[in-house]
Amino acid sequence: MAFKSAYLQGVYDTVCKRNPNEPEFLQAVREVLESLEPVVEKRPDLVKAGVIDRMVEPERLIQFRVPWVDDTGAVRVNRGFRVQFNSAIGPYKGGLRFHPSVCASVIKFLGFEQTFKNSLTGLPMGGGKGGSDFDPKGKSEGEIMRFCQSFMTELMKHIGPDTDVPAGDMGVGSREIGYMYGQFHRLSNTNSCVLTGKRISSGGSLTRTEATGYGLLYFVEEMLKTIKNDSVKGKTIVVSGSGNVAIYAVEKAQELGGKVVAMYDSNGYIYDKDGIKLDVVKQIKEVERGRIKEYAERVPGAEYHEGCKGIWGIKCDIALPCATQNEIDAESAQKLVDNGVMAVAEGANMPSTPEAIEIFQKNGVLFGPAKASNAGGVAVSGLEMSQNSMRYSWTFEEVDAKLKEIMVNIFHNSYNASKEFGDEGNLVMGANIAGFMKVADAMMWQGVAY
Ligand code: NDP
Repeated sequence: MAFKSAYLQGVYDTVCKRNPNEPEFLQAVREVLESLEPVVEKRPDLVKAGVIDRMVEPERLIQFRVPWVDDTGAVRVNRGFRVQFNSAIGPYKGGLRFHPSVCASVIKFLGFEQTFKNSLTGLPMGGGKGGSDFDPKGKSEGEIMRFCQSFMTELMKHIGPDTDVPAGDMGVGSREIGYMYGQFHRLSNTNSCVLTGKRISSGGSLTRTEATGYGLLYFVEEMLKTIKNDSVKGKTIVVSGSGNVAIYAVEKAQELGGKVVAMYDSNGYIYDKDGIKLDVVKQIKEVERGRIKEYAERVPGAEYHEGCKGIWGIKCDIALPCATQNEIDAESAQKLVDNGVMAVAEGANMPSTPEAIEIFQKNGVLFGPAKASNAGGVAVSGLEMSQNSMRYSWTFEEVDAKLKEIMVNIFHNSYNASKEFGDEGNLVMGANIAGFMKVADAMMWQGVAY
């Protein structure tokens, strides 16, 4: 569909021409530009200053070779990336993803989204993202360590506590952050805060592991309370994925009185009508690094189904996609709607296709977009940076309280922007505009510097 504004159409056409074969990046840019239609009408000064033209072009994209030696002695080569998308409001901040699907398009879409997400947290962090097409699955501890060391040997030339502070993402948890931090520490002879998601003993923040999943539920609870005068209590919930975000989303959903009945990994999904036993999932996924199908072998009455898509056919009140991009397509969205879903909130980045989002919105389903609803992880990463600067550590309860306050504010800032720009309750538009405004303001103030 064409843009109403000829200016935005021109910006999008240029992005398409400059970034052919990058569908994920184009999808992310298109969604933000669509939300900005009412902004360009009201703010010709932003158009004149080329703020949007500048925002859709990363400040820097670094691509590098990552050679490493596997357990058989063979040399392997992967590709590493870091996109430094926008530093107008603070040092670049955003995770590192290790997954075979990583390419420039995926990293750029994530870095672009991250810019607005970080702005929404209210903390001074710019947007960045990175990673590699390395697949940690099936690799030995020694292989993971050698890969991480090689990756950091190059990455460290481009990052720093006041420049760019990466964190974890898919395939990068505490183990990988530890190996990368160790290599940085050794080569730089400093202990500066160049990564977040560190172990507590090395300057990490309490609550970081839980932050994205917990934050998602704080957002959902506030959204239900404000718009429907309702809560998570008593709701049936489906959560996709069984990694970091999914596990802690389930934990907080259960604490709030919700009943989570299904989860998946990339092979298939489990259904437990009595409610998922999270201790079993944690044992399989966090301790043994096994497959989710083992849950059905251990819990009587639970079912395992090969393939992921079937999970969206399970009747639920709330759906929380927490695995990967584009996991809910139009068909899955329609199934959720037909089964009476009342709210969908994104734990993963861009897990719903544009067609799926349209179906949710047309059918009055409350929809929390990733930039807003999954910002809890980066928010606590920002708090980790603050604690490191102060040489101080807050308690779990202190960080959790700050996380909750940030998520509640993100909801209200997004909701208020949706009202102000004429589409009350459209949180996709509200989050995009609220995130955009702060970055735009900083870019205007700094002149055509970047
Ligand atoms: P993890 O690597 O811990 O877990 C990812 C989960 O998603 C695994 O269960 C994985 O299954 C599953 N998965 C991956 N690809 C697919 C696929 N194609 N189909 C079905 N399942 C799949 O990652 P995180 O939990 O950290 O991240 C999940 C999402 O949340 C990502 O989109 C990430 O960008 C986003 N996010 C993460 C944050 C964080 O703090 N960690 C912060 C904000 C967003 P398998 O094990 O089989 O691969």
